[in-house]
Amino acid sequence: MADLAGKVVVITAAAQGIGKASALAFAKTGATVHATDINETLLAELAKTPGIKTRKLDVLNDEAVNAAFAEIGRVDVLFNCAGFVHSGSILEMKDSDLDFAFNLNVRAMIRTIRAVLPGMLERGDGSIVNMSSVAGAGKGVPNRFAYGVTKAAVIGLTKAIAADYVGKGIRCNAICPGTVESPSLQDRMHAQGDYEAARAAFIARQPMGRLGTPEEIADLAVYLAGATYTSGQAYNIDGGWSI
Ligand code: NAD
Repeated sequence: MADLAGKVVVITAAAQGIGKASALAFAKTGATVHATDINETLLAELAKTPGIKTRKLDVLNDEAVNAAFAEIGRVDVLFNCAGFVHSGSILEMKDSDLDFAFNLNVRAMIRTIRAVLPGMLERGDGSIVNMSSVAGAGKGVPNRFAYGVTKAAVIGLTKAIAADYVGKGIRCNAICPGTVESPSLQDRMHAQGDYEAARAAFIARQPMGRLGTPEEIADLAVYLAGATYTSGQAYNIDGGWSI
């Protein structure tokens, strides 16, 4: 695995959950981490960690993305972690939810990749890791229409980038987690009314009998950032959900 010490890593949606755990995990490798998010209050906590620089960045905003990457300069590793879960079937989904899901879960990755790719190509080196999900990419999951459609699109995006640039030093892979303990998962559990029943149902769909931790997913992000002989792959990390 490539040594990440001295590499420049940019992570989107890094203020909490998997993104935050990844910022901390990359910092431990000796990389310089740019942890970005819209939540400046939560980012402030991360800013105390050596090796982590924080920056407010809304990945829905083209101009803000271009300006941020222009300021950051060289990027060796881009971890596109931002994403949002909408609940509902195709008949329950609002068009505005689907538009938002595509914008945040898919187009935001296209924005950031467009911003970093020219520099990576100039140097002939770069690793891009995109956050997908077992839900949608690996299997159909009830009540997750907009989420599943967009997370499946992340796999197509990942493979297209990998295919176009595999001979030019660029690797692009996707992570497909199962159910992971995170603040937004907590929100989804509370939103169902009976928190304990919702939690039990989420755990029941994981054959390992527990939820994943953000740190377990972060380890895979670090591995993929430095894994020099793999591209275009979708990695399940899901407590056996996809077996
Ligand atoms: P989370 O949902 O708890 O946190 C999301 C973060 O995204 C927040 O810090 C929020 O401020 C930030 N954010 C929201 N809109 C943003 C924007 N426009 N620009 C920048 N940042 C923005 O974190 P999580 O549950 O760890 O999820 C992270 C990623 O992992 C998502 O893409 C999610 O779909 C994916 N994922 C999560 C799970 C899970 O069970 N938690 C499973 C599979 C995939």
